[in-house]
Amino acid sequence: MQNYQMFIGGVFADASDGETLETVDPFRGDVWARIPRARSKDVDDAVRAAREALETGPWATITGTERGKYLSALADLIERNRDRLAEIETRDNGKLLRETRGQLGGVAECWRYYGGLADKIEGRSIPLGKADTISFTTREPIGVVAALTAWNSPLWFTAVKCAPALAAGCTVVVKPSEFASASTLEFAELVRQAGLPDGVFNVVTGLGQEAGAALVEHPDVAKITFTGSDSTGARVYETAARSMKRVSLELGGKSPNIVFADADLDLAAAGAVSGIFGASGQMCTAGSRLLVQRSVMEEFSGRLLELARRIRLGDPMDPETDVGPISTPPQFRKVMEYLAVAEADGARCILGGRAAEAPNLTGGQFVEPTILADVSNSMRIAQEEVFGPILSIIGFDTEEEAIRIANDTQYGLVAGVWTGNMARAVRMSKALHVGTVWINTYRAYSYMVPFGGMKHSGLGREGGIEAVDEFLETKNVMISTAETAPSNPFVMR
Ligand code: NAD
Repeated sequence: MQNYQMFIGGVFADASDGETLETVDPFRGDVWARIPRARSKDVDDAVRAAREALETGPWATITGTERGKYLSALADLIERNRDRLAEIETRDNGKLLRETRGQLGGVAECWRYYGGLADKIEGRSIPLGKADTISFTTREPIGVVAALTAWNSPLWFTAVKCAPALAAGCTVVVKPSEFASASTLEFAELVRQAGLPDGVFNVVTGLGQEAGAALVEHPDVAKITFTGSDSTGARVYETAARSMKRVSLELGGKSPNIVFADADLDLAAAGAVSGIFGASGQMCTAGSRLLVQRSVMEEFSGRLLELARRIRLGDPMDPETDVGPISTPPQFRKVMEYLAVAEADGARCILGGRAAEAPNLTGGQFVEPTILADVSNSMRIAQEEVFGPILSIIGFDTEEEAIRIANDTQYGLVAGVWTGNMARAVRMSKALHVGTVWINTYRAYSYMVPFGGMKHSGLGREGGIEAVDEFLETKNVMISTAETAPSNPFVMR
């Protein structure tokens, strides 16, 4: 049994009242760790530490180059600890080890990338056309940042939120999901080893409605960067508005993966399978609505089924496994409920459709990869985010119809387009109301590109150079170089 502590002001500590929460391995079904259950007093301690570090600590005065060196040192430490961190994350959320390992390579590079940007935060000189006035802008750290993360990729979210925030000169308090906090606490130990000044990076753990809510409400938090469901995101946004906090939200999706008859159907079938069954469908980017041009519906469905039937469910640590367990008991119940909803609404199940049971599937949280045909876009299964391995196939005839169906959702995170016609690909990329369009590919991620949603999928962008802006305030300075008083003080020069 592993007993974790939080990281506040450079010190590892239990919750002030000593309470803990259990952490369950979703594959084995056993409790393998305990994490502190922080209450508002602990959150207050963490925010105070972050504020002190921001205002009086060395972080406030060191150069961007020095901040960048700390971030690069962290990248080196992540690389050295990559296998261990990947195993811990897989143990915590059941995502395939080969996937968490791959993701951690990106996590290390992400810290290095923002380390490189830390000394490139520049203002502008604005030519006003007035001989005796100079105008320029400076970019200043926004303040203490609260980073709230979801359970499906904790260290990736921590990187894409905290690396640009620290590069910008902010200090942070991270609150990982209560279902998967261990890897973020392990990461805090690397922060200690990298020698970041005390209070610059803090982690509090606990329940969303306790520790999370206390952090969102805290008057000394200037900015919230949140990844999670749209219902929680809306609550966070509402609370933040009361104290004018800045907010970035990375929320859910009901993403269309659109297959035209002129596409390479083998490539498209592979993209559709990994787009919905990868990570057991527990991705904000899941391509859960598969829009297929009717002229190739039969042929394409056949290729899809052939690939999907070969999926091997099993231990996420096993390199032979394709799909692991559902990460949490509430998420498992939600997926099962949606199977019933889809059936009641008249969707035709052509693969799976049940909880998966076999001697090698321990923990009791496996769902068969499920494909539903004859889905209409107005059905709940096509409109609501499931966050599980359920694919809905929807037919279309023309490009216009595909665009109309694709955009007919409250979400707008990503879309996939499969076509051999480049002109169509470009037209589609313009017409789709989403933050990311993938052409002849799916799940193509990089910390170097801006990522985020339109509509209910969120607010703001993570990744890329743009992400640093999310943690900066712009200040304008006007300097007069006039050496004589104006002849009339009421006339502006
Ligand atoms: P969630 O909304 O339940 O929780 C997210 C975080 O918010 C957790 O740390 C949780 O403890 C905290 N939280 C919960 N209630 C809170 C409250 N009242 N106040 C403050 N914080 C609170 O989401 P989840 O179940 O952890 O994650 C799944 C969701 O995340 C899905 O909807 C998925 O689409 C979304 N997601 C989005 C992205 C993206 O980049 N757009 C990526 C991954 C997941």
